[in-house]
Amino acid sequence: MNMRRRAGWLSALSITGDDGESVGGVIDHRLSRRSLINEYRRGRLRRDQVCDAHPDLMRAARNFGDETQVCCPICQEDNVVLVTYVFGPRLPHHGRCITRPHELEEFRQLAQREAIHATGYDSLYTAYVVEACRSCKWHHLLRTLPLIEPSLVANHQPTRRKQSNR
Ligand SMILES: [Zn+2]
Repeated sequence: MNMRRRAGWLSALSITGDDGESVGGVIDHRLSRRSLINEYRRGRLRRDQVCDAHPDLMRAARNFGDETQVCCPICQEDNVVLVTYVFGPRLPHHGRCITRPHELEEFRQLAQREAIHATGYDSLYTAYVVEACRSCKWHHLLRTLPLIEPSLVANHQPTRRKQSNR
């Protein structure tokens, strides 16, 4: 079966291989997804434990979800859709749902401009891509990715502080 996604407007995010590795700061969550599905299929998790998407996520999935060709791993009655949230400075703490095709690119450009003034990872913009089933409420985080290269952030010293404690 062909699991490749149709070229939706989120397809630009499909930049990882199927080996679950992180590429260019992208963190791929496919391995934990697979183990969760396995637990469900072995009967160790109930359906209501894996199909508990928040109403806001379900609304976003219905209104702004990017269609895929991937069948829902739980109910197998519907294809999952992708919903992207961006987290970053001056955005709501629960993130901002991407609702328009060019919005993610706009955030990328904003992140690029603000990187000059950024003082650490807290000031980075990060996108979270979630898959959700509109039929059974299955949901899982697929990928987290910085909207700019972390190396572009000025003054960030994530490891040096540890060394000074010695
Ligand atoms: Zn489903």
